[in-house]
Amino acid sequence: MNDNQKLAALLFPDVTETVDDLERRFPPRALPEGAKVTRFAPSPTGFLHIGGLFSAFVSVLAAKSSGGRCFLRIEDTDKKREIADGVSGIIEGFRAFGIDFDEGVTGFDSEVGDYGPYVQSRRASIYHVVAKKLVEEGLAYPCFCTEEELTALREKQEAAGTLIKGYFGEWAACRNLTFAEQEEKIKSGAPYVLRLRSTGEETRKFTFDDQIRGKIEMPENITDAVLLKTDGIPTYHFAHACDDHFMRVTHVIRGDEWIASVPLHIALFRACGFRPVKYAHVAPVMKEDAETGGKRKLSKRKDPEAAVSYFVEEGFPKEAVLEYLLTLINSNFEDWRRANPDGALFDFPFSFKKMSQSGALFDLVKLRDVSKNVISRMDGATVTLYTLEWAKRFDPDFYAICARDEAYLRQVLSIDRGTAKPRKDIAVWSQVKDSVSYLYDDLYTPDYALPENISAQDAAEILAAYARVYDASDDKDAWFQRIKDLCEGLGYTPNVKEYKKDPDAFRGHVGDVSTVIRVAVTGRRNTPDLHAIFCVLGEEKVRARIADAIAFYKG
Ligand code: GLU
Repeated sequence: MNDNQKLAALLFPDVTETVDDLERRFPPRALPEGAKVTRFAPSPTGFLHIGGLFSAFVSVLAAKSSGGRCFLRIEDTDKKREIADGVSGIIEGFRAFGIDFDEGVTGFDSEVGDYGPYVQSRRASIYHVVAKKLVEEGLAYPCFCTEEELTALREKQEAAGTLIKGYFGEWAACRNLTFAEQEEKIKSGAPYVLRLRSTGEETRKFTFDDQIRGKIEMPENITDAVLLKTDGIPTYHFAHACDDHFMRVTHVIRGDEWIASVPLHIALFRACGFRPVKYAHVAPVMKEDAETGGKRKLSKRKDPEAAVSYFVEEGFPKEAVLEYLLTLINSNFEDWRRANPDGALFDFPFSFKKMSQSGALFDLVKLRDVSKNVISRMDGATVTLYTLEWAKRFDPDFYAICARDEAYLRQVLSIDRGTAKPRKDIAVWSQVKDSVSYLYDDLYTPDYALPENISAQDAAEILAAYARVYDASDDKDAWFQRIKDLCEGLGYTPNVKEYKKDPDAFRGHVGDVSTVIRVAVTGRRNTPDLHAIFCVLGEEKVRARIADAIAFYKG
């Protein structure tokens, strides 16, 4: 045994498996040529940021559009960031938006797939097998430097003005310890981290082809980065190389804050003898800063919409959020949508090259517009289902009212839907209550305010006349014709053009007459199709409301 092998045996006495064993345990995936294997790898912070949903959606799209796979891995090596059961919140977030992973973590303590475990804290034995091999090959070594020694090193480098700071080359005190020195320290129980013995050179550069940004040239890594911390837990960097290799990932899609670490990551893949993955570094989701007028990152602290749960609570349908995210993900999505109005989102031919390099601007106003369109394409039954689901969680009072009679709710929510020009007034489920309030006695408060050109007396007269001719069995055309027919006798014209030509000749036009009727029955001047509303309310209620209004106007 040479010294490296002796050191490896000393550091990892319990590791019996080899890297070759792992290669066999996690064989290359049987997927078609060109299939991308991607993953989303959050820390278990319990919080799903809209930027996380964005990246995860990109990862799923990249996999789906190439016949590949995407999985969810939990990266819990940084205990400082972790909260108790920080996994469920993230999984719920994905579930709420219909983002399905093909494998990986599925719950607090559950997972599916052949390439697990998918939680890093359960993979210690895998990292140790790889670490042992690196030590055997002289590519990793234990470092016994204390916090104080590392601080002193940093200060010396500051004072000397070295361009690169960190643990490397001549500064790396533990790099060239003899085996006897290492053995003595280990046996004495001195704490240590395991470091990479970098083979990089300061003057050498390398390029990699970022899937979104194209070719990027960077200097090689020269620092002896930490691979395993004193407790044997890997750093993000080492875990990334081991996990993405053995989980057979082809494309790593992650935030662009990791670009600076690519030289180290490539060095790690090479040292381990793994083929490097391809990288796609995603720019953060931005928002317009009201104060400066510029762009800034969406902030967890300042912006409620940074949390995915905000969209669930507001009641944005998942389809709308995903549809909107796709407009941010690929610049050609809107063209595709126009050409494929009914196409399923996951059929969109996603491409990395069409992604923004500078950060997509998240605009709540645009999201609302998209949402209005998405909801306008839904039928009454779907809107009913979503409304009930939302109200049950977030507006129990409204739920108690609207869940009482689901068939009635469906009638209410079917008004002006499924037609050539469906209504587009609802962007979020939290608006439904207000938009249907006049169709429920428990929610309805009359508001008899009239447009300026109509007096209370006129209104009473119009309503009395209408009550005499109203026939609940009329179809839409007959129903409106009856209102038109009323006009002349009351001094109004059924013809708006005629009124505009000579306004002094009439008291008003058919629009004024229907406004009076609308206000009397709904308390509003603008509503969807009034005939449909009358049909849903039913004759008795319509008549009662008209009678109440007449009584009000007569004082
Ligand atoms: N766990 C890392 C993070 O939360 C993920 C980076 C990656 O996707 O590789 O930032």
